[in-house]
Amino acid sequence: MHQMTLAEIARGLADKKFSSEELTKVLLARITQLDPQLNSFISLTEELALEQAKAADARRANGESGALLGAPIAHKDLFCTQGIRTSCGSKMLDNFKAPYDATVVAKLAAAGAVTLGKTNMDEFAMGSANESSWYGAVKNPWNLEHVPGGSSGGSAAAVAARLLPAATATDTGGSIRQPAAFTNLTGLKPTYGRVSRWGMIAYASSLDQGGPLARTAEDCAILLQGMAGFDQNDSTSIDEPVPDYSASLNTSLQGLRIGVPKEYFSAGLDPRIAELIQNSIKELQKLGAVIKEVSLPNMQHAIPAYYVIAPAEASSNLSRFDGVRFGHRCENPENLIDLYKRSRGEGFGPEVQRRIMVGAYALSAGYYDAYYLKAQKIRRLVKNDFMAAFNEVDIILGPTTPNPAWKLGAKNSDPVAAYLEDVYTITANLAGLPGLSMPAGFVDGLPVGVQLLAPYFQEGRLLNVAHQYQLNTDWHTRTPTGF
Ligand code: GLN
Repeated sequence: MHQMTLAEIARGLADKKFSSEELTKVLLARITQLDPQLNSFISLTEELALEQAKAADARRANGESGALLGAPIAHKDLFCTQGIRTSCGSKMLDNFKAPYDATVVAKLAAAGAVTLGKTNMDEFAMGSANESSWYGAVKNPWNLEHVPGGSSGGSAAAVAARLLPAATATDTGGSIRQPAAFTNLTGLKPTYGRVSRWGMIAYASSLDQGGPLARTAEDCAILLQGMAGFDQNDSTSIDEPVPDYSASLNTSLQGLRIGVPKEYFSAGLDPRIAELIQNSIKELQKLGAVIKEVSLPNMQHAIPAYYVIAPAEASSNLSRFDGVRFGHRCENPENLIDLYKRSRGEGFGPEVQRRIMVGAYALSAGYYDAYYLKAQKIRRLVKNDFMAAFNEVDIILGPTTPNPAWKLGAKNSDPVAAYLEDVYTITANLAGLPGLSMPAGFVDGLPVGVQLLAPYFQEGRLLNVAHQYQLNTDWHTRTPTGF
């Protein structure tokens, strides 16, 4: 039962092969049995799940239908869930029970999805390995000595290990696509503004975007359908109609123009990944796509620009965690300054503290123009590169990551080494574009992802290309041994 995709679950529930309650019990038992190896959950919500499953079964018995009605999912632990701990992977919020549901959580609950729990993540979504969580590192089900990617590593490891079919995640610089690549999943970062950020604890507000992590493009379409849409509570949410993502999955790829940026195949890319990317290109050519070389000349500046802008926004967003308004409060403060210093010093881990310091520095008088303003200018150049490329091609294809999942601890002493691994993903966040990662093969038994990028609001196109690819390949069906 745990092998089913969301689409298969929807069919099974509609045909009354099993109930949502039965499925929920099977998956909860599986999580209890197997998650100790992975650490992919911070909180399990068994009671809520069984309640929601029974309610979904009752709605189906009353004639209601819907792809998410009775479908078990989990939320990355930065989506606020009413009355349930929302920790953001931090000691700072270890005892925080949100007073309301995030829009994404409320929308999915209304569609009948069943919440099994809250998944582990890098602290405040800062990281690429899920090692900065206060609740401990998450392990990659493909090899328990390797990282699952981050910051949505808990959602990715849980879905990859078949503990549940799909989960929500967020992507500020790659945190949906990179863990998808590292665990053999399909993950989609939507256009900035497509999915409401209301109730999503902010890391870098101009880059953060929620999206689905699942095994197939078909399932990502189902989950995105439930997440996307205008929300007047989020001032950057965009009031555009949401297309039917499942309806366009079967569009032919005949004549599709795929751009491959020449900058992608530089020295930093593992040659074995380069070969798998070439194979995926050949596969898409067989389906009728036409390949064209394009150029993204400012790509080399994207990492430095991102690692100024994201910490700058984080330093501002995280100022609210001061032990007074929000967050952990130290014992017996001597005065207000002592309260701030110790509450923040105890509540935040080292990576979060590092980024707050970098961000505050970049925003300070005298450095603002040299760092923050400069980074914003680079951001515009990165966007312009994409706009020029999309005049010539329909989508852009390349690797999701330069290397497969590294060993736990391998990059802990060198944060910059980890930052450099974001080279292929962060440009889409800087430009606000949608991006998808899908399974493309294996290197040393570890999964490799191919990334597709599209113009604004073309999520349907990305899902369509990925679905057609998945109809003709079987990488995405491979299951990690032991799960
Ligand atoms: N690895 C990137 C960072 O640490 C991206 C994280 C994310 O997308 N949340 O900032």
